[in-house]
This record gives sequence, structure tokens and C-alpha cells, in this order.
Amino acid sequence: MIITFYGVRGSTAVPGPLTAKYGGNTSCVHIELDNGHDLILDAGTGIRLLGHRLAKKSTPANLLLSHGHWDHIQGYPFFEPIYQPDRDINVYISVQEGRKLLCSLFEQMDGVTFPVRVEDLPSNNISKFKGMESELYERDGVKVIKNNLNHPGGGVAFKLDESGMTCAYVTDNEIDPPYALSTTYDEWVDYLHGVDVMIHDAQYRETDMPHKHGWGHSLISQVRQLATDAEVGALVMFHHDPDRTDSELDEIQIENEKYLKSHHAPARSVCAAEGMSIHLSKPVIGGETRIDIRG
Ligand SMILES: [Zn+2]
Ligand SMILES: [Zn+2]
Repeated sequence: MIITFYGVRGSTAVPGPLTAKYGGNTSCVHIELDNGHDLILDAGTGIRLLGHRLAKKSTPANLLLSHGHWDHIQGYPFFEPIYQPDRDINVYISVQEGRKLLCSLFEQMDGVTFPVRVEDLPSNNISKFKGMESELYERDGVKVIKNNLNHPGGGVAFKLDESGMTCAYVTDNEIDPPYALSTTYDEWVDYLHGVDVMIHDAQYRETDMPHKHGWGHSLISQVRQLATDAEVGALVMFHHDPDRTDSELDEIQIENEKYLKSHHAPARSVCAAEGMSIHLSKPVIGGETRIDIRG
């Protein structure tokens, strides 16, 4: 399994000299399975560049959306495979409290907000939602287990398991919100326990509080604690605040390393950056997953 980051930013895209190192595109992660199939986690502005790569393939593109907020859907009209005749694109959504979370993905392509209407696209399955009614489903050799996010408007986390190699994608999630919890801290520890890679919303520092308490995102310190308690293999801090500069993220990376030395913590912890990839492999059947972080 190869995990590659195409968009790591939360809330809004922030191109410019202060974000050039970690990247300014909004949420999009590509999962290339060992069997050759592709999963895409969220369709923020990062999906545009990924689309150029996937346009060279003919296999279905499988898009899993965490929720319908703007920073997770706005790259979709610029995703090249949707303009390829007969290309299969499967969009997986979740239903919470009787309503579709993700209709905004297609509603933005209405001929007014965007010039091309979704019903005029030449690709297949584009307008068909494929729901995830159960907690667990299997497709193309990967198991996906979802969990409910603590986030205004709702949303889902995904835990992927391909032949024992595991990656959890948990954004946008507020570990300790002032509103009613969808998932408690202990439930998160259980859900994430022992995963090889935990990608988690880490948008805020203590200086953002208490003003942003309740906005649906977590403190970096809380995410480190959760990764430690869940004994994950590697923590990837994700969904960086749009005002977080490269130099601040470098500082956070140094804090991560100090934290690791002083706690029984995950083997590695990194701030997600565009172009970074994580290669998971199983050298021996039943052995430990090898985690190789590049870039
Ligand atoms: Zn977001
Ligand atoms: Zn959100």
C-alpha cells in the first residue's frame, strides 16, 4: 500500500511563499493498493494534480468522502478522470441522521457555480451514490471500517485494511468538543488501536483556544496523546490551519520529536506535506508492517 499526500491543508487553499514547503492545497490523499486499485480520500484542491496521474490509467477511481465541507469537495470539478468518456468513478458517501452528507460534491457542478453540469459529464457512475450503510464493507481486496467524526454537520473517518496493512484517515475531528460527542475518546483509542498509520486532524495549537473550541478540529497536543494511547505505528498530522506557516510546522515537527523521546509514543510522527508518501509492506506473512516515509 502506498499513501501519497496531494492536499494537506484545512479550511481553504493557501498558496504562497509561506506555505510552499508543506503545501497549500486542501485535503486529498491517494491510496494505491498492492492489487493496483486506487482509493482517493476527499476531493479538496489537491485532487487536481492526482487527476492528471490517474487519467493515465483506465481502472475505476474510487472516491471516499469524509464529509461535504467546501475544503473536501472543491477540487472535484478539476479532476481530469471525470471528463474521460466511460471512465468509471465510484463515489462513496455516508448517510447520517437520514440525510446525505455529500450531495454538495455534485451540486457545485450545476452550470452556474461551475460551467459544466454533472449530468453532462462523459464518465460513468458519476451521478450514482454508492452508500456505505454498514460499518464494514469490502471491495477490491480492502476492508473499510468507518466511524463517526465529532464535527459540525457530521462526517466519517475511514480505517483501511489491506492484508493486515492498516491506515486510518480521521479528519475533520474534534477530540474534545463542547457539543454532543459522536465518538468518545475511549472509542477513538479502540478504533485506532495498533493501526500502522494514523492520519489525524491537527489544526490547532493552544494559542487558538478557547476561541476556536467547537469549530470541529483538534489540538496538536491531543492528537499526540491519542496516537500514544492507541499505540499506532506512525502519526501523520493533517489538515493544517491555513494560517500555519512552514516555519511554524517545522517548529511543530521539532516538538513532535521531543515528545517522542519523552513518551511511549508512536515510532514516528510527521507533519503531512504535499508529495510525501508512505510505503507499507509486509516482508513476512504475519510479521510487522514495514513503514517507510519518503519526502
Ligand atoms: Zn476540512
Ligand atoms: Zn469540515
